[in-house]
Amino acid sequence: MKVLKFGGTSVGSVESILSLKKIVEGENDDVIVVVSALGGITDKLIATSKLALGGDESYKAEFEFMQKRHYEMVDAIIDDEEKKSGLLHTIDRLFEELKSIYYGVYLIHDLSPKIQAAIVSYGERLSSHIVATLVNGAKRYNSLDFIKTIKKHGKNVLDSEVTADAVKETFRNRTQKSVVPGFISTDRNTGEITNLGRGGSDYTASIIAAALDAEVLEIWTDVDGFMTADPKVIHTAYTINELSYVEAMELCNFGAKVVYPPTIYPVCVKNIPIKVKNTFNPDSAGTTILSHVENDSKPIKGISSIKGTTLITVAGLSMVGVIGVNRRIFTALAENGISVFMVSQASSENSTSIGVRDVDAEEAVAVLNNEFSKEIRTGAMFPMHAESGLATVAIVGENMKHTPGVAGKLFGTLGRSGISVISCAQGASETNISFVVDGKSLYKALNVIHDSFFLSEYKVLNLFICGVGTVGGNLIGQIKSQYTELMEKQRLKLNVVGIASSHKAIFDHNGIDLDNYQALLKESAESDTQKLKNEIISMNTFNSVFVDCTASADVAALYQELLEHNVSVVAANKVAASGDYDSYLKLKETALRRGVKFLYETNVGAGLPILGTIKDLCNSGDKILKIEAVLSGTLNFIFNEISADVPFSETVRRAKEEGYSEPDPRIDLSGKDVIRKLVILTREAGYKVEQEDVEKNLFIPSGFFNGTVEEFWKNLPTLDAGFEKKREELQNEGKRWRFVAKMNHGKTSVSLEAVGQQHPFYMLEGSNNVVLLTTERYHEYPMQIKGYGAGAGVTAAGVFANIMSIANI
Ligand code: ADP
Ligand code: ASP
Ligand code: MG
Repeated sequence: MKVLKFGGTSVGSVESILSLKKIVEGENDDVIVVVSALGGITDKLIATSKLALGGDESYKAEFEFMQKRHYEMVDAIIDDEEKKSGLLHTIDRLFEELKSIYYGVYLIHDLSPKIQAAIVSYGERLSSHIVATLVNGAKRYNSLDFIKTIKKHGKNVLDSEVTADAVKETFRNRTQKSVVPGFISTDRNTGEITNLGRGGSDYTASIIAAALDAEVLEIWTDVDGFMTADPKVIHTAYTINELSYVEAMELCNFGAKVVYPPTIYPVCVKNIPIKVKNTFNPDSAGTTILSHVENDSKPIKGISSIKGTTLITVAGLSMVGVIGVNRRIFTALAENGISVFMVSQASSENSTSIGVRDVDAEEAVAVLNNEFSKEIRTGAMFPMHAESGLATVAIVGENMKHTPGVAGKLFGTLGRSGISVISCAQGASETNISFVVDGKSLYKALNVIHDSFFLSEYKVLNLFICGVGTVGGNLIGQIKSQYTELMEKQRLKLNVVGIASSHKAIFDHNGIDLDNYQALLKESAESDTQKLKNEIISMNTFNSVFVDCTASADVAALYQELLEHNVSVVAANKVAASGDYDSYLKLKETALRRGVKFLYETNVGAGLPILGTIKDLCNSGDKILKIEAVLSGTLNFIFNEISADVPFSETVRRAKEEGYSEPDPRIDLSGKDVIRKLVILTREAGYKVEQEDVEKNLFIPSGFFNGTVEEFWKNLPTLDAGFEKKREELQNEGKRWRFVAKMNHGKTSVSLEAVGQQHPFYMLEGSNNVVLLTTERYHEYPMQIKGYGAGAGVTAAGVFANIMSIANI
């Protein structure tokens, strides 16, 4: 015999209730079907009673809405006229009763818990009649007759023994499929209507399954089973095939509402497995909950959380070593029916923190202040301190106890994400580690933990891309085209959650549609760098990376604060790494301290692996002694293009048209761009340098850089004749021009040099870059890195590589 429970959504729509019919009628075994109220009806019943209580006439409209929903459902699913009229007769009667109760509440402005319980019972009473009529050959049993409660500490709790006997008695001679309303019960002594608490239909089903020694308890709901986390919060959560009773209990107790917590115990005692299945997808295997899971290697099975936590701290110097303080805390709270779901006490014993729900907080504080009033008066203890608006998270898995390092990984992950843990607890059974964080960090905490413990699905990196010009645009294109491949092969999801142009910005937690971002940007509101930064910080996303594809100093000025908020920075923009040395150092230190990354590989040589190589050499104990480099793709292009037919000014124009130069080519021609790169290289090599320290031997008179860009373009041809003369001389000597950047033991210079055919810089085509590194190890033959050093495609690819290196940590 099986017990099948169908939740609110499973009886909430025509589609789902017909699926229920198919599932139940398809069972060869004899089954007992427990049903919830139609989805959302319990909430509506309660809300309507509040309206009536307040004398608000609109309760009538709400009542009629509920009526209509039930009648429409009956119309849509029951064809047999005779059955239908019998059912409608019952439903009419129930609604008549309910109407009278509401009217009474409306008239006398009173809503006792007793009346409230009577009102909510109508949801399951109605739905069970509907399902019993719908399922061929089914008979309805009334749980008000056999699920019995008693009152304890002002709460209705199950009377297990009386109920078990009554269930056995009720179903003794059952011969056909049975339908039972979940959730509702009656007081054993008074006969008044009570219930098993919100979500209690699961419990009804479990009680029946245990009393009748069912072979299985099936919980049919709206998701594919028990999942690694709530799929409504964690989009990457996935179904767990098997869970132990202990694991399921821990997860349910901490907010996994897929199974109501008291449900597990009655079937666990009888060793009856629970299956969690999806009414909307009956073919999926679902989850089996049983006493022992074989071949289970994962240390963590799931994550769950409770919002609305208050942490109450009981503290005082007199508590140290005093026996009995904890007994008094828990006795006082228990006597007042307040449940504590987390306790943490440091071994110094001068404070105990207890986690209660926000709704219980005020009463808990009053109870404890009263309990310790004498000690508080004498100053031996402090008045209770309560911090509300927090959230509790639990990670659960029986295998944790065999796996060292789980707590380390957990708290390391939270720390790297800038989430501070307010309190934590782990029981000696080692199946659950719970911790309390600020409620605002809950979403982020759940996501980073899920990411770090459940990599078997995929890891998510949340990207904010600033700048949609040639590099940014190319990068977005590359992300789009690699998206599926990375998901499938690397289990990595590159989620672009923000895109900003110079005046606009768009954001979407779930990922921006990259096919459509330009249109979305156009339609979006005006933005600026400060707004952008504030939005990124307030979104508080996990694994966040800010990607700067601009050349803007204002954008570079955001890095420090972003890193402080645990957002990694990948910059194609050179301003920060080449700017003031102390600020640069602070950025690097901040990234290190916060456990995030500040990467700018493309600042020198675009996609060429130059900075990373220098870093690797230094990390392995090598020392960079000298650097000689051609670092400007633009200048190299210009000096390769210049000929008797193509004058200097024309080569500059071509460099701009081909997209090699900076948007303002004066940055290249003034040597500024090369100086910035040299400064960055030198710093990476371990020397302190500022741009002003670089010795400059320039080839264009400084007067050319003073006016506007238009004047610059206008005046440029006046240099052509001089260049042509020198070019001819050079050609005759068999030499070529190269704009060379040098570093020698920390001393830096840039100059235009003529190199002969034997020089390694002589053969350097197009816009290529070359870097020669002389180190203690690469001494006689310097290391040479050479290749495309400019262009949006290779730069974007270098940025992409930096992003991927963050994904792989
Ligand atoms: P029913 O109405 O069928 O009783 P509930 O709404 O009570 O359904 O429970 C199902 C919901 O529980 C899911 O829709 C899901 O959002 C939520 N949930 C929370 N944690 C989990 C989890 N770990 N696995 C599956 N669902 C979960
Ligand atoms: N209908 C009740 C509720 O919404 C019981 C249940 O669905 O399990 O809480
Ligand atoms: Mg439920």
